Amino acid sequence: MGIDDRMKELAIERFHYRRSKDLDITIDGKRVTRDNSEMPAGMPMIYFCDHCGWPMCILDEQFFLTQVPRACSECAVMQERGWLEEAENESQGHGIRAVV
Ligand SMILES: [Zn+2]
Repeated sequence: MGIDDRMKELAIERFHYRRSKDLDITIDGKRVTRDNSEMPAGMPMIYFCDHCGWPMCILDEQFFLTQVPRACSECAVMQERGWLEEAENESQGHGIRAVV
């Protein structure tokens, strides 16, 4: 197995891990959910990766950024290399689907 195949395998493994992991983040004592609409008004907005659902950045609710990244850095690299689609297809039907 070549180094690229090994890297791909590891990247996909980590992708599944990020997708399946429950969030354990609290802000001001309130547990963060992947769906910002479930959060009380005034809470900062949390942006999640479109692909694996990993939290990427937290911005104040009033702060509007024209360009929020859609993919975390690891998924972005996987996308570049063409591995992301395979990882996403593999995990259909199990684990957490990212809220997009
Ligand atoms: Zn991601």
